[in-house]
Amino acid sequence: MSSLIERLQTRFEDEFHQDQPLAKFTSARVGGKASLFVIARTRDELQLAAELAYEYRIPYFVLGGGSNILVSDEGVRGLVIQNRCKRVKYRSNGVNVVCTADSGTNLSSLARQCINKGLSGLEWAVSVPGTVGGAVFGNAGAHGSDTKANLVSATVWEPGKGMRYMANDEMQYAYRESALKEEVRKGRPRPVILSAEFELVPEQVSVLQARADGFVAHRKETQPSGATMGSMFKNPEHFYAGYLIDTAGLKGTRMGGVHISKKHANFFLNDDNATAKDIVNLLDFVYQQVRDDFNVELEPEVELVGDWYFNDKREENSEWRLADSEEL
Ligand SMILES: Cc1cc2nc3c(=O)[nH]c(=O)nc-3n(C[C@H](O)[C@H](O)[C@H](O)COP(=O)(O)OP(=O)(O)OC[C@H]3O[C@@H](n4cnc5c(N)ncnc54)[C@H](O)[C@@H]3O)c2cc1C
Repeated sequence: MSSLIERLQTRFEDEFHQDQPLAKFTSARVGGKASLFVIARTRDELQLAAELAYEYRIPYFVLGGGSNILVSDEGVRGLVIQNRCKRVKYRSNGVNVVCTADSGTNLSSLARQCINKGLSGLEWAVSVPGTVGGAVFGNAGAHGSDTKANLVSATVWEPGKGMRYMANDEMQYAYRESALKEEVRKGRPRPVILSAEFELVPEQVSVLQARADGFVAHRKETQPSGATMGSMFKNPEHFYAGYLIDTAGLKGTRMGGVHISKKHANFFLNDDNATAKDIVNLLDFVYQQVRDDFNVELEPEVELVGDWYFNDKREENSEWRLADSEEL
């Protein structure tokens, strides 16, 4: 039987790599290498890559914009599938317009496209980095709205089961949470979002533009630019994580090559030479300080990818099975 490597090589040719550095594909610009790496440019390729990895019982991971993950310095064992499928279609449902976007579509570009077409719903996403897939997976949101507010359904490939439509209510969305995220947290093989449908309401372009411009201006005023992962921690119930970190006096705190932004305390900035370990150490330090000062246990919003130790406890790897070197 052909090995996984042979099959990936045959199918993906120049878009298949071994020991591919991942840092440049993440917004924090840190992290090690992926032992196996492919670029998927169509939904079929995305599904096929995941199916192959699943067939060989090799862990796989879909990489969107890399804007909500922290890849360990040791890298990722198994197959990383970079999602670049970007087809977008629009159709009328008689009342509104339904936009179907491949999961690798850049979310903010899609939001801009909808605004220019006079379609309302995704304005909140004009400055949220990443892909449609990442947003559907984590229920991304901003400015009082989120993915849940507009998603009709998503087409998802489920390992061992195949492809199916998941309606909005099946996603069990909550603040930066979804049923898909829960599956991964439980250590189950990863479902893969192939595309998503959003219902959008016709509205005047100038109104939508003004709304989006206001969101962008607010973000520029309140958030730093540079190599970050956005908010490091979720807002705990009844608190803002940034306010707690600021009030604990931690703005500007540095650990190795990373420091806490002076503009927004829930943002960590890579000074250019940070390691993933620096970032996780700072995450740990902030967690402990806030717990000691306010008795609040912050929960990281970013996903740690690879093997990690956090608060002296091994953070369970989301891979459901470790790759055997013979299988690779
Ligand atoms: C400057 C900055 C500002 C930000 N502001 C916001 C904000 O306002 N609101 C907000 O919600 N977030 C924000 N974020 C975080 C981030 O933009 C979102 O979480 C985004 O939705 C992540 O998408 P991604 O494509 O980058 O996902 P990635 O970081 O690549 O992946 C995140 C997770 O989603 C999974 N995933 C991605 N695509 C798929 C797929 N097709 N199928 C299955 N799983 C998939 C990955 O496997 C991984 O588990 C910000 C980040 C930065 C850097």
